Amino acid sequence: MELETRNSKLETRYEAVIGLEVHAQLLTRSKVFCGCSAAFGAPPNSQTCPVCLGMPGALPVLNRRAIEFAIKTALALGCDITSVCRFHRKNYFYPDMPKNYQISQYELPLAWGGSIDVPADDTTRRVRIHRLHLEEDVGKLLHAGTLHAADYSLVDFNRSGVPLMEIVSEPDIRTPEEAAEYLRQLRAILVYLGVCDGNMEEGSLRCDANVSLRPVGSEELGVKAEVKNMNSFKNVQKALAYEIQRQAKVLDEGGKIVQETRLWDADQELTLSMRSKEYAHDYRYFPEPDLVPLAASPQWIEEIRATLPELPPQRRGRFVREYGIPDYDAAVLTASRPLADYYEEVAKASREPKLASNWVMVELLGYLNKDGREITDSPIPPAGLTALLTLLQRGTISGKIAKTVFEQMYQTGKSAELIVKEQGLTQISDQDELRRIVEEVLAAHPGPVADYRKGKVQSLTFLVGMIMKASRGKANPKVANELLIARLKGEEPGGDR
Ligand code: ADP
Ligand code: MG
Ligand code: ZN
Repeated sequence: MELETRNSKLETRYEAVIGLEVHAQLLTRSKVFCGCSAAFGAPPNSQTCPVCLGMPGALPVLNRRAIEFAIKTALALGCDITSVCRFHRKNYFYPDMPKNYQISQYELPLAWGGSIDVPADDTTRRVRIHRLHLEEDVGKLLHAGTLHAADYSLVDFNRSGVPLMEIVSEPDIRTPEEAAEYLRQLRAILVYLGVCDGNMEEGSLRCDANVSLRPVGSEELGVKAEVKNMNSFKNVQKALAYEIQRQAKVLDEGGKIVQETRLWDADQELTLSMRSKEYAHDYRYFPEPDLVPLAASPQWIEEIRATLPELPPQRRGRFVREYGIPDYDAAVLTASRPLADYYEEVAKASREPKLASNWVMVELLGYLNKDGREITDSPIPPAGLTALLTLLQRGTISGKIAKTVFEQMYQTGKSAELIVKEQGLTQISDQDELRRIVEEVLAAHPGPVADYRKGKVQSLTFLVGMIMKASRGKANPKVANELLIARLKGEEPGGDR
């Protein structure tokens, strides 16, 4: 109770200001400055060479595909591509980086501007992109344990030199939910473009969150803290929510926020101070002398633009227009490209877009989520689901039976036709056969029949249920319902017949 009052007060007194720095590993085959494989998961240090091991005298050669992917992303986000960009050395010491500098970009990044529209409470929040640049990833330290009474760490340089794209937002985000949503949208775009696999657990997509508070109504930015080490959307949201509470408490007590880097501890669900914030001048940036400035020709940029696929926001809008499905459905279905492709195939082939949307969202995604499976591993291909929906539309099977058939298709991989044939699940629409079942049910339940005649309409639902049961779910509910009503009315004293 007490916390609640404080929380609601927090929002009326402070406004949170959030900006995200996202690092995305690019899906190139080789690294950004050498020919080593950039694949994830190989035995430690099996994908290295003098360049990515930082040997003196080894020279970097820029990977054309990495630039292409960065330009593709920049175009998709509506950024301006700088006519000439260049690389800088960012100097610092860390054991996972033997050169003691990281090749990155500084005052001339590859692109800037652009934005992502994020659904906020009851509006859309436009989050502007500050800059997008290319850099190299560093190696990975494994804190391995204790040897001869001393802690020791191992280093794997397979990741050293893997291309990274950094996308920095303007501080336009206002709530932890919006931050998570921005990240979801950005991830969907990267995955759609095929430039990043978007895997946050494996670290191919990483996010640092900057957050500050300011009095409501103030335009001035407060002092920010940077939070690192969150490897899921949920954690980004939780870490920001925690950090907002922490800062509010400090400010309430008359304290000052210090600019620092904090680590999110997912187990304890809190942020811990890691180090005081470093500033740009600490890094002694200077132009990388081994790489020439980079100027992407306008023709090349146009060639890349021509390869841009339809992106999630556009596809979502088109699904609403073209298939007449609700915006909510369209948002769910366009969350990933394979899912949208799957849906679209079923929607087109079955010519029942709304029915297709229900079956994909409720049944298929329900089963897949339960098993932790991706749409790409679906045991039912789009043509299989289409065939099932066709049986349903033609009235060959009832909606109820269709669900059990679906389950069996999912479990066994058999086709809908085969399951229906093997188990004789064809719907009973034949009037004579249904009439026989109706008579049986009426004879067995005189009570509800009498109730219905006295005006208790709900008895009808019960009787239909009994008909479905007697037919083991195979009765055509619509026809059965009609027959039942006709029969009950027909027998009414003073009725038409
Ligand atoms: P730094 O030099 O400390 O890394 P930048 O200016 O590069 O800071 O900004 C890094 C990120 O922090 C950006 O996403 C930016 O939008 C965000 N940011 C900058 N100032 C603030 C602030 N006062 N509060 C919240 N976020 C901020
Ligand atoms: Mg920064
Ligand atoms: Zn190498």
